[in-house]
Amino acid sequence: MQLVRGFSKLSREEKLAWLSSEGRLSESTLKVLEDHLHRDGDTQQIYGELSENTVSNFYLPLGLAPNFLINGKMRVLPMVIEESSVVAAASSAAKFWAGHGGFHARIKGNSKVGQVHLTWSGEPGELHRIVEAHRQDLLLSVEPFMRRMEQRGGGIQSMEIRESGTDLPGHFNLFVRFNTADAMGANFINTILEKLASRLTRVMEDHGKIGSFEVLMSILSNYTPESLVHCYVESGVNVFEAMVPGLSARQFAGKFSRAVDTAIHDPYRAVTHNKGIFNGMDAVIMATGNDFRAVEACGHAYASRKGSYQSLSRVELSEGSFRFTLEVPLAVGTVGGLTGIHPVAAAALEILGNPSSEELMEVIAAAGLANNFSALRSLIGPGIQQGHMRLHLDNILRQLGASPKESEAAKQYFEDRTVSHTAVAIFLDDLRNKNKQV
Ligand code: NAD
Repeated sequence: MQLVRGFSKLSREEKLAWLSSEGRLSESTLKVLEDHLHRDGDTQQIYGELSENTVSNFYLPLGLAPNFLINGKMRVLPMVIEESSVVAAASSAAKFWAGHGGFHARIKGNSKVGQVHLTWSGEPGELHRIVEAHRQDLLLSVEPFMRRMEQRGGGIQSMEIRESGTDLPGHFNLFVRFNTADAMGANFINTILEKLASRLTRVMEDHGKIGSFEVLMSILSNYTPESLVHCYVESGVNVFEAMVPGLSARQFAGKFSRAVDTAIHDPYRAVTHNKGIFNGMDAVIMATGNDFRAVEACGHAYASRKGSYQSLSRVELSEGSFRFTLEVPLAVGTVGGLTGIHPVAAAALEILGNPSSEELMEVIAAAGLANNFSALRSLIGPGIQQGHMRLHLDNILRQLGASPKESEAAKQYFEDRTVSHTAVAIFLDDLRNKNKQV
C-alpha cells in the first residue's frame, strides 16, 4: 500500500473508492458501510462531522437500567455498552438496593485543574513574586472570557505557581483551579490557559526576564481528584439472607468484604475489580456523550494515589451493618462537548431527567457501585460465567449462524447447562445432523 496524500480532502465516496482500489474494500463490505449510514441526511451529517475522515457509523446498543433510587429520586439509567450482562447486572443491583434505601451520593468537590507549563532559569522566589504582583493583571486579561461562566456560578477558584516535580529543576507551572459549572470544561479551560500564558509572557517581557522564561504548553489536567463524588449503599447484613444459595447473610457480607479487601491489596485483582466499576460508569458516560477517556485516565490515576493500584470501592462491616462505598473523581458535563450535538446523547440526558453535572456525577457513581456489587455477588457465589455466558449465548448463536428455530432450541437446552462457545457449537452440530437424518 502506497503512502496516500490529501486523503482528508477526498469526498466520502472518493475515500471508499481509494480503499477499494487498494484491495481493502469488497463489494459486500462496502454494502455494510452504506447500510450503516443514517437514513436521514441531516442526522448523518451530524454523525459524519463528529470526527474526521468518516465513511460510516459504528453502532453500539443503548440499553436502559431502571429502578435506580439515588438520593431518594428514582431514575432510569441509559447505558451504551457492547458487553453483555452489564445492563442486566446494573438493573439487578438497582432493584435490590431500591428496596433498601437506594444509593446515597454526595459531591465532595467540583474543581477542575489547568496548567501553564513553563521553564524558568531564575530564582524560584522571583517567579512567585512576579506572578503575585501581577495576579490582578492576569485575571483581568481573561475576564471577558470568564464573564458568562461566572454568571453560571463558575470561574477561576485559585491560581498559583508550582514546581513541576522535584526531579525537574527549572520546570514550573501556573496551576489554576476552575469551576466549570455544568460543562466538563476542557475547551473552556484550555482557552483561558492560553490567554493567561500569553499575558504572563508579556509580563515577563516587561520585566526584562524573557531570556529566563519560556511557556512550554497550556493544557487542562485530566487528573481531577478535587472533582470527587462519594456514593454508598448501606443496610443491616440480614438483607443478604438467601442472596447466594448456601451462604448465610453474615457469611455473604464477610466474603463480600474479603473480596473487596483482596482488590485493595492485590493490583492484579484491583484492575479487574475497577474495570467492573467502569463497566457501569463508562456505559452512562458514553450514553450521555461524555469523554470516557478523560474519566478512565483520571480514575486509574486516583486508584494509584496511595502508591499502589487499589480498589476504588470499600466495604465497612460492623456490628451487623454493611456499607459499600465508591469514591471516584469525575469530570463530566451536561452541556458542551458531544452532549448537545449527538442526538442520542441528548435523548439519554432527557431520559435521566436532564440532571445538572453534579447530579450526573452521582448517577455515574451509582452505576459503577451497582455493577461492582453485582459482579462481587456473582464472584463470591455461583461465579461470573453462569449469568454472563447465558447473556452471551445470543452472541455465540449469531456467530455460529443459528436460525431462529435453532436459537430457540439452544436457549431451552442451555437453561440448566453451562454455556461455552464449544458447547454451543457441538449442540448446533448435533441438532443439524439430527435434522438431516429426519
Ligand atoms: P465546550 O467546548 O462545548 O464548551 C462548553 C461551553 O458551554 C462553555 O464554555 C460555556 O460557554 C457553555 N455553557 C452553556 N451553559 C453552560 C453551563 N450551564 N455551564 C457551563 N458552561 C455552559 O465543552 P467543554 O466542556 O469546554 O469541553 C468538553 C469537550 O472537550 C469534550 O468533548 C472533550 O472530549 C473535549 N476535550 C477534551 C480534552 C481532554 O480531556 N484532555 C482536551 C480537549 C478537548
